[in-house]
Amino acid sequence: MADSADTSYDTLSSELDDGPAAAPEKSPVDQARIRRAVREILAAVGEDPDREGLLETPARVARMYAELFSGLHEDPRTHLRKVFTEKYDEVVLVKDISFNSMCEHHMLPFMGKAHIGYLPNGRVLGLSKIARVVEVVSKRPQVQERMTETIADLMVEELDAKGVAVVIEASHSCMTMRGVRKPGSVCVTSAMRGIFRSNLSSRSEIMTLIYGDRR
Ligand SMILES: [Zn+2]
Repeated sequence: MADSADTSYDTLSSELDDGPAAAPEKSPVDQARIRRAVREILAAVGEDPDREGLLETPARVARMYAELFSGLHEDPRTHLRKVFTEKYDEVVLVKDISFNSMCEHHMLPFMGKAHIGYLPNGRVLGLSKIARVVEVVSKRPQVQERMTETIADLMVEELDAKGVAVVIEASHSCMTMRGVRKPGSVCVTSAMRGIFRSNLSSRSEIMTLIYGDRR
């Protein structure tokens, strides 16, 4: 009986392990420091960090944080510089870019979708690069409002676009699993720049492109 229990524990444990390849130790994140801190938190909440089920937890959390905060060590501008010249002068919109980020107030995840549109001014960005920018900016301790504005400002600065619209919808774990506990609530933020800020009909055009089929 005890043997079979041990075997199933080992199987579970190796399934949980995301492996050494997940986040290489050459990451600039100080994983040893995170391991010590997580051990300390476990002890502080009244757990035994040396209990079998928790032995690997500090190392696992350290690798996870190295991945979740990897955007702190990356410059999103590198993706925005992969532009090409194109006469296209209508709106480009990428909808439903899914992302996960970490709320900097609670260190709990918030996740959702970003919709990013712009009106080019001779320079067009590869579509996948827009998703890359969201990825880098979301892999940092964040608040949704700043994330929205950061992406909009980066697009304006690097693309010299006539207009940029960023809308982010996200569900925050810190609202759904603690505090006010409102599961299903979604926070929507938007940042409008250039023509989408100054011109009402351009703004309503982009909002219809984003939300049109949901009304
Ligand atoms: Zn929070």
